[in-house]
Amino acid sequence: MKKNEIPKYPLIWRKEDFFIKIYSSIPNISTGILITTDKATFVVDPGDGILRDLNKDVGAVTILKVSDIFISHGHHDHVGGVWSLLTYLSVMKKKSPLNIYYPKGCLEIESIHKAFISVYGKELSYPIVLKPINSAKSFKRNSVTIKPFKVNHRELTEDSSSTILIPSLGFKFIHDEKSICYGGDTAYCDSLAKMAKDSDLAIIEAGAKEKKSQLHMTIEEASQIGKTAKDYFLVHVPE
Ligand SMILES: [Zn+2]
Repeated sequence: MKKNEIPKYPLIWRKEDFFIKIYSSIPNISTGILITTDKATFVVDPGDGILRDLNKDVGAVTILKVSDIFISHGHHDHVGGVWSLLTYLSVMKKKSPLNIYYPKGCLEIESIHKAFISVYGKELSYPIVLKPINSAKSFKRNSVTIKPFKVNHRELTEDSSSTILIPSLGFKFIHDEKSICYGGDTAYCDSLAKMAKDSDLAIIEAGAKEKKSQLHMTIEEASQIGKTAKDYFLVHVPE
């Protein structure tokens, strides 16, 4: 990616049946990512608009196959579409379980889930299984190995005088010896640098406006990490 270039969505990458489509990754607005293989259908960071994008692009049959949702952190631009996606799956009579993986302590996901169950619990057509993650232990879903890793995502305190670390993860997805590393939102951190290195695709946020920030990476910092992978996308670039 060239310096200062704002990515044009959707961003698409494919190696045989390992496929990723990033519908959107705009800071403060929305994120929405679909990952598929022959056997797996995952959604990552379903921000606002994800149901609209999936419906337009892949349709109900594929949406009903979604077995796992991966949440990097609870900011609204990463979880804003969860409620509508969960509701749609029930309206369309999904039967198989849906797992939601998220960083342990992510209040937003647990609150959305609690409210959702209190409204729709009795009529829900499928089980929702919350999977809080608090370690770097890898696990397998369908044909894909998932390696979660902690990243350094912060938000400003109320008076903006300092920043606090929030529960936040990146994920490395490995299928057929090919790997996709998604860093979520993060300042520069060694865990991401390590996981992105030699990945077939790295997806790195570059959300800092110009100067170095404690909250996000500059395009320069993000590219530095991206270039250690075989291919990379810079995302979350401010418009
Ligand atoms: Zn964020």
